[in-house]
Amino acid sequence: MLNKLIANVLPYMPEKLVWVFSKRYIAGETIEEGILGSKLLNQQSIDVTVDLLGEFIQTMDEALDNKNKYLEIIERFTSEKITGHFSLKPTMFGLLIDKETCYKHIREIVELASKKGTFVRIDMENSQCVDLELELFRKLYPEFPAHVGLVVQAYLRRTLNDLKELNKLNSAEYPMNFRLCKGIYIEPEKIAYKNFSEVQQHFLEDLEFMIQNKMYAAIATHDKFLVDKSLEMIEKHNVDKSMYEFQMLYGVTPDLRQSIIDQGHRMRVYVPFGKQWFNYCTRRLKENPKIAQHIIKALFVR
Ligand code: FAD
Repeated sequence: MLNKLIANVLPYMPEKLVWVFSKRYIAGETIEEGILGSKLLNQQSIDVTVDLLGEFIQTMDEALDNKNKYLEIIERFTSEKITGHFSLKPTMFGLLIDKETCYKHIREIVELASKKGTFVRIDMENSQCVDLELELFRKLYPEFPAHVGLVVQAYLRRTLNDLKELNKLNSAEYPMNFRLCKGIYIEPEKIAYKNFSEVQQHFLEDLEFMIQNKMYAAIATHDKFLVDKSLEMIEKHNVDKSMYEFQMLYGVTPDLRQSIIDQGHRMRVYVPFGKQWFNYCTRRLKENPKIAQHIIKALFVR
């Protein structure tokens, strides 16, 4: 109840106040701050995946601008020798306005990433985008198999089936690379599991499928139960270290993160930055009021 209230009120609160409790989840507004946040993580043996904030744009001029910004980000981060790669949200390039131009923009970004020997992950957005984002990946993977990956969401009823379909294109030489997460958007029960333990169970089922079919698994969760179960599964299937990693969000559960690193597993942190942080934070809150709990906590725990 309180969470919902806060989530509804937040978009009307002054930016400065919202920043007080958002700042621990965002590296900053500028490329320089993104680079600095990434370097600090690299110094702790943590790889990054860098994300410029922004999504669901309104005009294709914004899409072009965002593409140019990403090209600059890839140039800057690679020349600074940051250990990491890049994540992007296709609606930031006009996925829901003009999918062909969106594809061309993302292709150009992935092409630069491949020239620089780095990698671009296509984030998965809400359910209206899933087919389109799978299609993007299916088009890009044959051309850039080592330089592009996708996210899959365990809460969607369709996900295991999507993985089975994608597996038909999987190559032993360039294993498909998927980030597996629970999923952040509010989706109807018809298409998504709603029960907490049901989502956990499907997360593990999807992970086992990925492991058994020699896909690269980026295990993105802060849920200790899932971390422990994933570690058991990695051991059970004797998964090589080159075939999996753990991922967490910037500023979230640093102790659990450290314990995974201490056990010798690769960790990557999602580093969001950019001027669009206010919309990002407030939209996330409206979509998932449960996150308000973390924000309330952040108000008191500094
Ligand atoms: P939860 O049960 O939600 O969280 C476990 C514990 O982690 C909580 O009890 C809490 O202590 C802590 N925690 C979790 N989230 C937060 C937070 N925001 N602030 C503070 N503490 C927190 N979703 C998508 O739909 N598409 C994507 O492309 C996508 N990319 C992601 C990339 C990464 C690297 C990660 C880690 C998540 C991504 N997500 C994405 C979000 C994901 O789907 C979940 O919504 C989110 O990770 C919370 O689920 P959880 O597995 O951590 O478990």
